[in-house]
Amino acid sequence: MVNHINNIKKGDFGTTTPIKQNDEIGDLHKSINELSISLLELKEKEKELNFHRSYDPVTGMPNRSHLYEKLMHLKAENKANFIIMLDIHGFKILNDIYGEKAGDEILTIVGRKIEKISAPHFVARVSSDEFSVVTKNIKKEQEIHTLVRKIKDSLAKPIYVKGEEMRIDMAVGVSKCLEEDFEGSLTQATLAMIEAKKKGRGQVEFYRHSMTEAQSEQMKVEKRLFHAVNNQEIYLEYQPKVSLISGQVIGVEALARWNDPFLGKVPPNRFIPIAEETGMITALSKHLLLEACFQAKSWNEKGKFIPISVNLSPVLFNLYPRMDMFIEEVLTETQLNPGLLEIEITEGVLLTRNSVDILQKICNLGVTISVDDFGTGYSSLGYLKDFPIHTLKIDKSFVQMIKEDRSDRELAESILFLGKSLGLQVVAEGVETKEQLQFLIDSGCDAVQGYYVSRPLVIGDFLKFLEADYRVSV
Ligand code: C2E
Ligand code: MG
Ligand code: MG
Repeated sequence: MVNHINNIKKGDFGTTTPIKQNDEIGDLHKSINELSISLLELKEKEKELNFHRSYDPVTGMPNRSHLYEKLMHLKAENKANFIIMLDIHGFKILNDIYGEKAGDEILTIVGRKIEKISAPHFVARVSSDEFSVVTKNIKKEQEIHTLVRKIKDSLAKPIYVKGEEMRIDMAVGVSKCLEEDFEGSLTQATLAMIEAKKKGRGQVEFYRHSMTEAQSEQMKVEKRLFHAVNNQEIYLEYQPKVSLISGQVIGVEALARWNDPFLGKVPPNRFIPIAEETGMITALSKHLLLEACFQAKSWNEKGKFIPISVNLSPVLFNLYPRMDMFIEEVLTETQLNPGLLEIEITEGVLLTRNSVDILQKICNLGVTISVDDFGTGYSSLGYLKDFPIHTLKIDKSFVQMIKEDRSDRELAESILFLGKSLGLQVVAEGVETKEQLQFLIDSGCDAVQGYYVSRPLVIGDFLKFLEADYRVSV
């Protein structure tokens, strides 16, 4: 018995000794055996807990808190010298299209590949689609370039999930490990990775001080935007849409405007993405949609039938699986005839889960749907015909190709043909010259919008524009 107790003391849990006596000594043996087994169970539970604390359950790889521990440890040994952050391009879309199980499989395959190529360096999965490599004993940036290239080459080879061939691209940010501030080092690697992401697919960026400056600028804009959204300072300008059949105004697009007392005029391409990232997009969209619908209702009450088009962010469709209810609420509040509301979505919305269903529900309200910036996104012909869409808006980059050059003209023409062949109304945006207008008339485009007709106007000027009964000669 003494031996058994000594073994337990040494950590040899789970061992038992046979009980030979049926007396108090026998009972004691029994209790020691039970204690030994309980200790083993406890040890295993602790092991399991430690695993969950330090490893990601999806990929089985070290997680973010494990990365922190590792960084501290390496720092003590003065060995951590670079952090590489890798982010999978378009992971959210892949997850939406193929489902979460396939998404998990992609993450596991990608994680394993990074681990294999990066060995003996430390690799962790730090957030949903982000991995991080911490190198040791690499002194030169050139070696990092080589390592990153190897990872990217390995990921460029197709992987197969659910029988589908997929090619994975990653945005990569690299920073040097700061001696005393590993949290700061991670932030720098993340900032570099965000910069790489902005530059497009498959980019690599090394951290520069200007990135921290840009981030503090971004935070300043974020703060001001929060104030502007809360105080409903974002307003609308109105750009008319003109028919190439009748020459008359057949609609108007509402465009968001922000004129901040400190920052000056901030364009929507700058502040809408910030509103999307921070969640302010919900309050902002509700306010602008209400404003647009109130305006269209007031024109309607004066006998004018001018449909208004409102841009709706794809982020809203992700946040609100029932976007139809979001729109219905506004229609009820403003009492606008749904036929006078058009929503403009981008091609990305068509790729989200249940998009056919949700767009059909919106359509059932009597609202029409237009695909904005057509030609710049992912849609193929096959995709489009399944959706209840009424209008395609050809992106202004194609319209601006209509110059002397023949091949460019052909590209614009084929995009137009694509829309027409689906039986949709085709609107060209960004029309600036008489030459572009003539080309669009000759190619059978239905309507145009652009500086040639009018710039976006503040409400007072737009009403004057309507009063003047503008017509384009067709
Ligand atoms: P968009 O919906 O494609 O809007 C058309 C953009 O082209 C507008 O830029 C408009 O001012 C500009 N534009 C119109 N005619 C011409 C032209 O002849 N030449 C040129 N070069 N440009 C022209 P803006 O107002 O800066 O808006 C940019 C984008 O911001 C919009 O693109 C839209 O994607 C987004 N946006 C604007 N307002 C909202 C909004 O209320 N909600 C959401 N989610 N996005 C919005
Ligand atoms: Mg638009
Ligand atoms: Mg557009």
